[in-house]
Amino acid sequence: MSQFWSEIIHKLTPYVPGEQPKLDNLVKLNTNENPYGPSPKVIAALKQEVADTLRLYPDPNSEALKAAIAETHHLNPHQVFVGNGSDEVLAHVFQALLKHDLPLLFPDISYSFYPAYCRLYSIDYKTIALAQDFTINISDYNQPNGGIIFPNPNAPTGIPLALDKIEQLLKNNTQSVVVIDEAYVDFGTQSAVGLIDQYPNLLVTHTLSKARSLAGLRVGYALGSTDLIEALTRVKDSFNSYPIDRLASAGAIAAMQDEDYFNKTCSLVISTRTKLIADLEQLNFEVLPSGANFIFAKHQTKDGAELTAELRTRNIIVRHFKAPTRISTYLRITIGTDVQSDFLIRALTEILS
Ligand code: PMP
Repeated sequence: MSQFWSEIIHKLTPYVPGEQPKLDNLVKLNTNENPYGPSPKVIAALKQEVADTLRLYPDPNSEALKAAIAETHHLNPHQVFVGNGSDEVLAHVFQALLKHDLPLLFPDISYSFYPAYCRLYSIDYKTIALAQDFTINISDYNQPNGGIIFPNPNAPTGIPLALDKIEQLLKNNTQSVVVIDEAYVDFGTQSAVGLIDQYPNLLVTHTLSKARSLAGLRVGYALGSTDLIEALTRVKDSFNSYPIDRLASAGAIAAMQDEDYFNKTCSLVISTRTKLIADLEQLNFEVLPSGANFIFAKHQTKDGAELTAELRTRNIIVRHFKAPTRISTYLRITIGTDVQSDFLIRALTEILS
């Protein structure tokens, strides 16, 4: 606390990201990174960009990157907004589109950055409890609101919401912006991107951190009507003219264009997930249905915090959330390679025996 701080800073409770350990020999299953490296075409594009041209600013409008993203999603580049990770894109979304007199609605168990942005931008919000089985019940969102946001699949549960439910939500809610955070959509969840041309209040956010294996490059984007994108651009141009540097742009374009590599690595993650769920069930875990590159699982008898600590002593890190208590028995486990899954299952077998 300091007399030098602006008043709002005293009241902020920042988001706490998962640990990025300094040790190399860990099986790191805690922050939903992709176990496979980026496409070799991304590495080649990055190497080529390490050149004298780095002395020049990048394109402030990231036109080439927007064109590549638009092509992937069969949209027009004016329907694309890009930023330094989807966290930055989301920050602009909260400020540009979700701050109104009525409260923003999101699930009580969801991405914990949402309440952090509400505090940062003084946005009134109301959380809506997930159903007993941790699913989102869209009729609970039929109430006056200044916007709605949730991840699909949800985080940290991993549970996907079917596209017809999203469309129903959009039909019920035409007067405020509906944001679907599709950070994990490529691991078997239906995307809402195809609804954008029909619903001018729908905004969908994506990241290259997960399915495109580029968490370290920091690129994310939003897709929506030109009207919504213009609001985001106004905030960005009042904040940072160059959120996408030359390297990030070159790497991200190559990643968007290598569809084969993307499909191959997503399929590998999905098949490892299927096998890991079966193995965990054999060890008396209950695993929630997952459309993500992570699973949310609890053991029938052993506590989540204890299991997390015991795995850590065996050089495996997973994520545990102390609050709310409804999820404190669960572990969130990122899907790694088959070899990492086997290592995890062996450790859990030892711990539980
Ligand atoms: N949305 C959700 C639901 C997430 O879990 C994450 C990753 N922490 C993000 C957005 C942000 O990802 P990034 O900033 O790496 O694009």
